[in-house]
Amino acid sequence: MRPSPEPQQATLAERLSALHERIARACPAGSPPVALVAVSKMQPPSAVRAAFAAGQRAFGENYVQEALEKMANLADLPLEWHFIGSLQSNKARTMAEHFDWFHAVDRVKIAQSLGQARPAGKAPLNVLIQVNISNEATKGGVAPGEANALATAVQPIAGVRLRGLMGMAAPTNDITEQRRQFKLLHDVFVDLKRQGLPLDTLSMGMSQDFEAALAEGATMLRIGSAVFGERPHKETV
Ligand SMILES: *Cc1c(COP(=O)(O)O)cnc(C)c1O
Repeated sequence: MRPSPEPQQATLAERLSALHERIARACPAGSPPVALVAVSKMQPPSAVRAAFAAGQRAFGENYVQEALEKMANLADLPLEWHFIGSLQSNKARTMAEHFDWFHAVDRVKIAQSLGQARPAGKAPLNVLIQVNISNEATKGGVAPGEANALATAVQPIAGVRLRGLMGMAAPTNDITEQRRQFKLLHDVFVDLKRQGLPLDTLSMGMSQDFEAALAEGATMLRIGSAVFGERPHKETV
């Protein structure tokens, strides 16, 4: 028998595989496969490479400049890039040129800028409308009652393809409260689809609350620390 190894930190591949097991357990029976966006903000390109080697393809970033540097370093890999942060108007062109998804449409104007800036040779930019489900002033997005008007205005814009909604629950360990907030977003999603909008993506759930999000019908998770470990501190960015 080999001696048991020293206790050590789980590798990225081990964390990712443990996460996939938790996701599978939390998915309601018979639900379609859920997309996992690994949130790589503040993580070095080497961490993205390790995740890629473990089978991960979609990555999420919050800062345009940081993301561009990472993309240049990782240009040899076939990755799908999601911009999940709020976007200043002067960064819209760069974002539309380099990303595959944008999760945080909160005004018609930004969707128009993105559509205009999307290079003709690329498929339309996939976009989600961000809805403020936690009712916190610090969170972006439109109020649930405003999502309908914004979705209807964004839907026909050329160069973008409206895929669905994104939301973040307030930080709390109370799973009942997490579910209450995610249900708000799911209700808006169902409502928009009933009106005939061809939506297929409900982006909700992070490391602390993805099980509640899956219980309420999430189709896409944005998960950082449960994949990469704790993030380095923010003040450097
Ligand atoms: C950072 C971030 C995440 C991931 O957060 P974790 O807690 O590390 O899983 C998800 N969504 C958005 C919008 C973020 O900014």
